Formats: sequence, structure tokens, C-alpha cells
Amino acid sequence: MSIIRFSALKELMKREVPEVKFPSNKVSEYFGENVFDLDTMQKYLSKNAYKTVLKAIETGNRIDRKEADQIATGMKEWAVGRGASHYTHWFHPLTGATAEKHDGFLEIDSEGRAFEAFNGELLAQQEPDASSFPNGGLRNTFEARGYTAWDPSSPAFVIGKTLCIPTIFIAYTGEALDYKTPLLKSLSELNKAATDVCHYFNKNVKKVISTLGWEQEYFLVDEALYQARPDLALTGRTLMGHTSAKGQQLDDHYFGTIPERVLAFMKDFEIEAHRLGIPVKTRHNEVAPNQFECAPIFEETNLANDHNQLVMDVMRKIARKHKFRILFHEKPYAGINGSGKHNNWSMATDTGENLLKPGKTPKRNIQFLTFLVNTIKAVHEHADLLRSTIMSAGNQHRLGANEAPPAIMSVFLGTQLSRILDELEARIPDDKMSPDDKTALKLDIGRIPEVLLDNTDRNRTSPFAFTGNRFEFRAVGSDENCAAPMIALNTAVADQLKKFKAETDQLIEAGKKKDVAIFKTLRKYITASKAIRFEGNGYGAEWEIEAKQRGLTNIKSAPEAFKAMLSDKTIQLFEANNILTARELGSRYEIKAEGFTKKIQIESRVLGDLGMNHIIPTAIKYQNMLIESVKGLKEILPQSDFATLAGRRIDTIKRISEHTTSISKKTEEMILQRKVANALSSEAEKAAAYDTKVRPFLDDIRTHIDQLELIVDDKMWTLPKYRELLFSR
Ligand code: ADP
Ligand code: MG
Repeated sequence: MSIIRFSALKELMKREVPEVKFPSNKVSEYFGENVFDLDTMQKYLSKNAYKTVLKAIETGNRIDRKEADQIATGMKEWAVGRGASHYTHWFHPLTGATAEKHDGFLEIDSEGRAFEAFNGELLAQQEPDASSFPNGGLRNTFEARGYTAWDPSSPAFVIGKTLCIPTIFIAYTGEALDYKTPLLKSLSELNKAATDVCHYFNKNVKKVISTLGWEQEYFLVDEALYQARPDLALTGRTLMGHTSAKGQQLDDHYFGTIPERVLAFMKDFEIEAHRLGIPVKTRHNEVAPNQFECAPIFEETNLANDHNQLVMDVMRKIARKHKFRILFHEKPYAGINGSGKHNNWSMATDTGENLLKPGKTPKRNIQFLTFLVNTIKAVHEHADLLRSTIMSAGNQHRLGANEAPPAIMSVFLGTQLSRILDELEARIPDDKMSPDDKTALKLDIGRIPEVLLDNTDRNRTSPFAFTGNRFEFRAVGSDENCAAPMIALNTAVADQLKKFKAETDQLIEAGKKKDVAIFKTLRKYITASKAIRFEGNGYGAEWEIEAKQRGLTNIKSAPEAFKAMLSDKTIQLFEANNILTARELGSRYEIKAEGFTKKIQIESRVLGDLGMNHIIPTAIKYQNMLIESVKGLKEILPQSDFATLAGRRIDTIKRISEHTTSISKKTEEMILQRKVANALSSEAEKAAAYDTKVRPFLDDIRTHIDQLELIVDDKMWTLPKYRELLFSR
């Protein structure tokens, strides 16, 4: 009798729905109470110190030590008031998680008396012993120091008893070791480039920010069942498990009533998120059973990204409190939907305009078209780079398989908008534009808002879809740090806008009217980036064929996809815009490749262990039962009946032997392949070997295990089954 699985199921029967206590009936009364935001700063800082922070946020200027001291004092006073005893620099190393090292405010004076201390130096910069964070060869041991530096554009917050100060993380030699540093640089480049282009339409624009609204998908699983599945606990996904008879085929989970226990969890983490100023707003069931989504109101991208990382931590913590485990893995279960993190992205001006939203005047609409077309062009130009930022061992299950979204990058616009771009392309002549041309064009452009209003097209199969007033990058993995794709997208668009400006200015200098010059450049871009636009079914086999004809790449393997980070095109893009150097890109590539290798290596080891230590012994136990039963039949049945009545049982005995033999044989081969891969010298070779030589065994061995699951007596099966993992809550 299997102990683990059944005691887990028993545990599950005892679960109750905990009561959730709201701090107040009104969210507005506790929203942001744990954040050192501008309002709070005003209360705790001198006028001058407050102004300094404000300026640093607006311009990215450095804050000098003296002022930092004042800010630190105010911050400490506030944090201690909110119960904080420790502080930490909070940063995003390239592990994909966030990192923190807590120090107490406690100091002892010369008389031995304790007091709370914190100063500008501690606020502004620290040197965590960071030698064990991934650096992709950027730091040698003799220069192993890295340091963190305060990012005033993202406010400090208190979580538990700790004051967290968002920081960047760089090597002693200045190279970035985190996501935030290049993200901030890309935002600043986009600001410059987009503001310049805005000036064609509106001279009052002083600043353009990038906006991000992430939709976070996740699975929940009961803690007891999770603990009984070593594969889930160690790799974040199930490495085996036969499909449940009922899966998502009835579509009865999506937008259905949220199960009570889950709802309690959601309310609880939302309270915590709201206290931290994270504007989570939407919650619903997703397509797969036990899959859910949460989404906030969008914010400036750097802040939105900090909030996404933070909310993931909060969700992990609160899930445990509710005796759940949260799965952020892109593909926890085979055969049903995986999880993504849709990145809704746009650009907004300090004059309050969303640059991807059409407006009432023709001028606004030309501006809209300009930013729309430049974004499409940027995606077309850097599709491989974009893919490389979202690929991972986990997301490869989505992008590389027949699941949303495909590994081919394409942009969906909707029929109407697509037609408008086609018409623009057709209407703008190669040579001079006649007054009639111009009138017709302006008419078309004038129609955009109406056209978009009833543009209800949605394409769930597109990796990068326009959704009325923003793009939705749907291919991002649920476990990913949004910064990676956002750095690439912001940089690519910034670069594109600079080129647009230069080309258009050239036409203007050559005597063209501004509007005409803009139209001409846009037309050129529409033509040049046409191949990336796709309105059809992204999962279809026909699309793979068509995409190939269009010259679009379709890279399903993660290690292959990573290589785009090293291409000349990528290096040029990042160096020209001062975001990352070739060396930094190289280190990021190494980290991605190494991370991939390690993930597959762990999966392979866990599967090997489970196959040999759980599955085979269980199967043999059941097989022995059958053998006993056959022996018994032989004793009591007349020879003539035996063959007919015991035949099936004997077949089953044989099948069990076949599967167990395959499992152990293939596990041995897999181990051998691991050894070969481990001996390779470069990370690129290792990742490729793990992808092509080791990974196939995972599916192969799994097939045999899943067959055994169907054969073996349910009572003997030691690991919780798909139906239990997916339907209990
Ligand atoms: P849907 O399911 O239709 O995609 P959701 O409400 O789940 O919509 O999520 C939409 C996300 O897009 C939200 O986070 C929302 O704040 C965000 N969003 C809306 N407008 C913008 C914008 N201009 N820039 C960035 N994100 C946006
Ligand atoms: Mg969505």
C-alpha cells in the first residue's frame, strides 16, 4: 500500500477554507501603506531632500552623500515605524529570482547601548559578497566584488520586518550583473528616441515612458500532494503522469467560479500586494484545471517589473500559508495548457498620451501610425533577439511544441488595422504626392479610431498581438523576469525610432514637407516589415510553411534560440544604444545556456531516481501479485481453460517486464549521455547536448512510466496522479 500518496490525499480531505481578514473595507485605505512613496516621503523628508529624490526620479541624476544621509534617516524612521528591524538592498540577479541580504538597524554605542542606525552610505551603495551569483565569466575571483546601488525610481518598501531598497547590481568593473541596469538604460534610450519623434507632432512632450501591464498565469496545487511528487518539488513540473480522463476538454474551468479555497488565497495575497502598492486588479480561472491568472493596472515598466517580481514572491509566501504551492513553471503538466506572462506594452508621454492609441485628430493618428509601424519594424528586425530573451528550458515546452504561442515571431494587428497599413502602402506613391493622394490618405487615417473601435479581433495564437491601444507580447514565460524581453523590445524600438527620425529628417532637409516625409518613411517601413505581420492561426502547420517562405525564422530549441544574443546584429543594437556591451551579452548568453543545461540535468536525474526507485519497484510488486494469481489459476483450472482465462494476465506480466526493462535500459543510456555532455568544454556545446541527446530520454522514459500507471493497481501507485493534482483544491 502506498503510504505517501494516500496520506497526502487524506490530508487534503481535512483542508478548510481559512477566513481572510481585510485591513479595511476600502482598499484605498491600506493601498501602498508599506511603500515609501512620494506622499510618505513628503512627511518624513526635509523639503530639500524630497526635491532631490524627485529630481533623481525624473532625470536619473545621482544623489550626493549628504542628501542621501537625510533621506536614509527619514526612510529608517518610517520603516521602523512600520515594524522593520532590518534593511536590505533588493535586486534582480540573473538567476531570475530576486536577492536580498538582511542587515539589522541595530548599532551599539561606546557605552554598550543599542540604537537604530542607517545612513546615506548604506542606502546608496553596498557590496554584497556576490561571488555565487551567476556572472557568465564577467568576474574573476580577484575582482569578485559586485556592488548594489540604489534605484530611486522604484520606491523602497517594507515586507515583513525588512526595509527593502530596490537596487541595481553591477560588477566592480562596471558590468551589469542584473536585469535592472540594462532595463533602466533601455528605458532612458527609448525616452530620448520617442520624445524626439513626438516633437514632429507635439512640441510640448518632454518625456516618454514605457508602460507594462503583465498578466501572470500560474497553477496551484495542494501542499500535501506537491510534497508527494518529488518531480514537482525539485523541478517545478511533473516529469510523469498519465493524462487525466477529464482535462480541459470541456472548457469548464476558464472564467468559471473560482474555487473557495483558491479565492481565499487570492484575496489574501491581493491584500499583501495592495499594501505594497502593487495595483493587482483582475483575477480569474485560466484554461487548464487549477490554473489561474492575476493582472494589475499597468505602470511604468521599471516599477511594473519590480512589482511583478515582488508579487511572485508574495504569492509564493501566501500560497504556503494556505497550504498550497504555486507553480510558475511554463509547463507543469503535459497535455494541458502551459502558463505565460503576457506583457502588455505601450509608450506614454508626460502630456498624458498613450502613443499606441489612436486619437481624434489626423495628427494624433499619424503619430499613432508612426509608433505602431516603428514597433512592427523593430519586431521584424529583431525577432530572433526577442525570442532569445523569452526562451528557457521551461518556455521551450510552449514555444517549441504545438502550443501557444509558436516559436515563429509574428505580429497580429487585426483585419481592420492590417487593411489600413496595406492601403497606406498602396496609396503613398514612390515619387511626388499629389494633393488628391494626400486628401485620400488623411481620410483613411481619420477613419482609424472608428475602425479600431469595432476591431474586436483577438488572436490567441499570436506571440505579439496589437490589442487596440497596446501590444501584448504573449510569448513571455510565466516564470521569466519581464525585464529580459522588455530590455530587448525597448532597445529595438528606441533604435528604430532613431533611424526613423534620421531618415525622415533627411527627406525634410531635401525639401519634402514634414507630413510627406513621415508618410514616405512609414511606407518604406511597412513594406520592409510586411513579412512579420500575420493574421492567421499561429499553431497551424500551414503557418510553419508560409513563415519559411516569408523568410521568418522558426527556432524551437532553446539553446539554438539563445545564440541570437551573440549575433552581430544584436551586439550592434545594444552597443550602439549603450545598453550592453558584447562582453555583457556574452556573459548573459553563458548564463542562459548554463541555466538550461542545469535544468535539464536536474530533470534527468530526478526522472532517473523516480523511475528506478518508485516506478520499477511498484510495478514489480504488482507484477508479482499477478504472477501469484496466475500460479493459483494454474492450480485450480483445468489445463484446457487455463490458456483462455489466464492469457490476459500473462500478457500484462510481459508488458510490465517490457516497460520496466525499457525504463532501466533507457535510464542507463541517459546517464551515459549526461556524462558525455558534462565532459564538453563550452556552455554552448553542453546546452546543445543536453537538448538533443539527454532531453529526448525524458519523454521516452516517461511514456513507459505512464503506461505502467495505467496497468498497475491504483492502490499501489505511490505518486499522486494527474486527476488528483489537477482537480483537488
Ligand atoms: P485581457 O485578458 O483582455 O488581455 P487583462 O485585463 O487581463 O486583459 O490584462 C490587460 C493588461 O493590459 C492589464 O494589465 C492592463 O493594465 C494592461 N494595459 C492596458 N493598457 C495598457 C497600456 N497602455 N500599456 C501597458 N499595459 C496596458
Ligand atoms: Mg490577456
